[in-house]
Amino acid sequence: MTFDDGRDHRGGCPATPVTCRRILSRCGIPGYEYSLNPYRGCLHACAYCYAVFLERFRAQPRPWGSFLEVKEHAARALARELPRAQPGRIFLSSVTDSYQPAEGACRITRGLLEVLADAPAGFSLTVLTKGELVLRDADFLRQLHARVGLTLTCPRDADARRVEPGAVPTSRRLAVLGELGAVGVATWAFLGPLLPGLYDAGGGLAWLLEELARAGVRQVTADCLNPYPRSVARLRAALSGRSRMALEEALREPAAYRERLRWDLAAAAAGRDLSLSYTF
Ligand code: SF4
Repeated sequence: MTFDDGRDHRGGCPATPVTCRRILSRCGIPGYEYSLNPYRGCLHACAYCYAVFLERFRAQPRPWGSFLEVKEHAARALARELPRAQPGRIFLSSVTDSYQPAEGACRITRGLLEVLADAPAGFSLTVLTKGELVLRDADFLRQLHARVGLTLTCPRDADARRVEPGAVPTSRRLAVLGELGAVGVATWAFLGPLLPGLYDAGGGLAWLLEELARAGVRQVTADCLNPYPRSVARLRAALSGRSRMALEEALREPAAYRERLRWDLAAAAAGRDLSLSYTF
């Protein structure tokens, strides 16, 4: 594979190729045995990102959201590892986004899908992304019987831009879900973390669930904010005014925040043709 090392993918940040010898990792997410992460770092730069505190990223001299390492030869590594691995459920991806803009040129994720097409029996694939580039692989993902999810955290595009500055806005992610469903891809939505002060701004939670149903999504999983210190520090820097006050209140009274969130989700989902599950 040739890769244009000097190419700027977003915000003037050059992606750096790194050698990849192993790609199939044990996954800590309930319900999944393996995770695949085609990149190190993520230019979606979400303010709440939990990957920030992982030990392997702490040594990075550059702040989270401003570096990206491209795992060259990831497909070759996966082709070596898959035949020796026990069958299981694979999550793509847990600490990066497989369809961030750099994937358009690098095609690391695409290479992994091509290997998975020849996987031994017993492996299944679930994708979670905020990237519209997933549409490029829609036909392939359908053939793989993959479940493809989009993450949404804020009903309003302006709020999403504040906390997920490198990702496409919520309205575009909803459209992507609709387009995936229209070509027969099994879709789902991950609502999380639903941020205090933002998840229901302007009564937007009911609107968001209505739009998901309209896009053909039937399975929705919701999550609350886990207040890891480094994520909280970045969120505090991204928020101001009422949303900042709501964050501080939720940090003081986490049980009340979670209880209200559950209640708001149940009320917004009532009467809709959606299967709603919670991770908290
Ligand atoms: S898209 Fe995911 S991995 Fe990337 S910055 Fe956002 S939360 Fe982190």
